[in-house]
Amino acid sequence: MNLKIKNATKYRTADLRRFFEAGLRAYGAQRDRTIEVEYSRRAGYVSGCASIGGTWIKLRLPRQHVQGSGLVPYDTIPERQMRHVAFVFAHELQHNLGHRHSGGSAHGGTLTHGEYDDVGSWWVDLTIRQTPPKPTVPREVCTQRLVEKRERRAREALDRALSDLKRVQNRVRKWQRKVAYYDRKLALAAGTSS
Ligand SMILES: [Zn+2]
Repeated sequence: MNLKIKNATKYRTADLRRFFEAGLRAYGAQRDRTIEVEYSRRAGYVSGCASIGGTWIKLRLPRQHVQGSGLVPYDTIPERQMRHVAFVFAHELQHNLGHRHSGGSAHGGTLTHGEYDDVGSWWVDLTIRQTPPKPTVPREVCTQRLVEKRERRAREALDRALSDLKRVQNRVRKWQRKVAYYDRKLALAAGTSS
């Protein structure tokens, strides 16, 4: 008996496994099943599909969760949405267990088992957490690093300019000495010839 989870999301596979196993236990279903998990396109939207009388389920979970007026991208699925996830999973599981919608359509109509109110409480103590992305370096640090880099470059340029200045000062002193030496020579020559 093997529960295979193909997880294409950042939701923790261990959390998903605990959740699915609890659901399978609650409905007395075999663990031998393949459950694919991927992101749904719409924020806060949960959907699924399943083989009728088979062992395959696909569950689409939202990447982001609606919270107040904004979206919470990486977090634990909020409790009210966990109820919805549990409902969708239970619904898809009922298809695996051979139940069809009335009217014969794949979806639409009503499914007599796994309705929202019947979802039970097997899921209430469970959490499905989403691994957060690697933290990005805060903007202030980036700016600070850029300033540090520019300060270092300016300091190096200043050091080069100061050593240039020293070389020029040495040359000035050297030629000042030479000029003074020849001036003295000329003065002496003028003294002896007169
Ligand atoms: Zn259905």
